[in-house]
Amino acid sequence: MSDYNLPVTPTTQSRLAKVDFDDLGFGDVFSDHMFSCEFYNGTWQDPQIVPYGPISIEPGALCLHYGQAVFEGLKAFRGVDHLLRVFRPEMNAERLQQSCERLCIPAIDQELFCAAIEQLVAVDEKWLPTRRGESLYIRPLIFATEPNLLVKPADRYLFLIITAPVREYFSTEGGGVSLRAEPKYTRAAMGGTGSAKTGGNYAATLLPGMESVALGFDQTLWLDGRDHCYVEEVGQMNIFFKIEDTFITPPLHGTILPGVTRNSVLTLLKDRGAKYEERPISIDEVLAAYEDGKLKEVFGAGTAAVIAPIQRIAYQDTILEFDVESSGLASQWLYDTIVDIQTGAAEDTYGWNRIVSAPQTPARSMTGS
Ligand SMILES: *Cc1c(COP(=O)(O)O)cnc(C)c1O
Repeated sequence: MSDYNLPVTPTTQSRLAKVDFDDLGFGDVFSDHMFSCEFYNGTWQDPQIVPYGPISIEPGALCLHYGQAVFEGLKAFRGVDHLLRVFRPEMNAERLQQSCERLCIPAIDQELFCAAIEQLVAVDEKWLPTRRGESLYIRPLIFATEPNLLVKPADRYLFLIITAPVREYFSTEGGGVSLRAEPKYTRAAMGGTGSAKTGGNYAATLLPGMESVALGFDQTLWLDGRDHCYVEEVGQMNIFFKIEDTFITPPLHGTILPGVTRNSVLTLLKDRGAKYEERPISIDEVLAAYEDGKLKEVFGAGTAAVIAPIQRIAYQDTILEFDVESSGLASQWLYDTIVDIQTGAAEDTYGWNRIVSAPQTPARSMTGS
């Protein structure tokens, strides 16, 4: 157990009864409480849990001008045994630290990060959805609040953690996800911030993303920033190709976000004795493998979607199509295995879950609401 026992200011007006748990979106309603902690006078101060609500910052706040901000994304689940589990928060704590370093933001104690999440989940445990595929999405974020127009690291920050009950990111009814390999724009370049989870990376992808959507695709498949030749990732998901019986995913060489789901997939593949390679893979190699009938499967891996089978990839005038309905797909096995671990339906042999002890109140679904 951690040394942190955070003060809680409970809300006087819960919004829980207004939420339609039969029609959840992805992050458009937020739970009653949030974690808040401020950095000033050279240290992180006053960690606490308070009612979720608007915050006040000055218009001169550095984050608003120069984008000094980082975030994280992870999930909590109500298990089949009704226990509450948070999936691999230590990995997110570690990655947040790396993002902070890249953006010159003072580090957060990793124990505080995990304790804050556990206590927040316990306080809002009635907000955890109950159906398979649904979860409480947890969004930690840190941003510079010092009012100043100099381009420099701030001396004041706010660290918040908000949570939202969510459905699955992609509805599986539509089959798989369709991607357009982007031949012109760049998400991240060597030496840039591609491996940090920072909002600026996303802002730069909106315009190409709109173009992908206008052409009938769900998402952009990013190629390397120098030659637009090697595959990188999808922007919220890392990507895996199965060529014959080998799984291939691009290596973490600085332009790709080191996904927790990517790491979980590699661990599961390894333990299953599957062949896998972390190596550069060019879009030409992908096209050639498809032509030869060797490209069996493509899927994305990320917290929001877990595993998303890819149904279609377009690169310039070539379109690759994949059958995402057939049985025995590795993507289906990986999805089931990960969700089973997350929800306590399968044994957690890796110690990936942190069990949250919540007050002994009945779960929302059992109150008949
Ligand atoms: C968060 C993110 C991912 C997926 O990482 P997970 O830890 O698996 O959720 C992939 N790419 C980018 C750019 C991301 O921001």
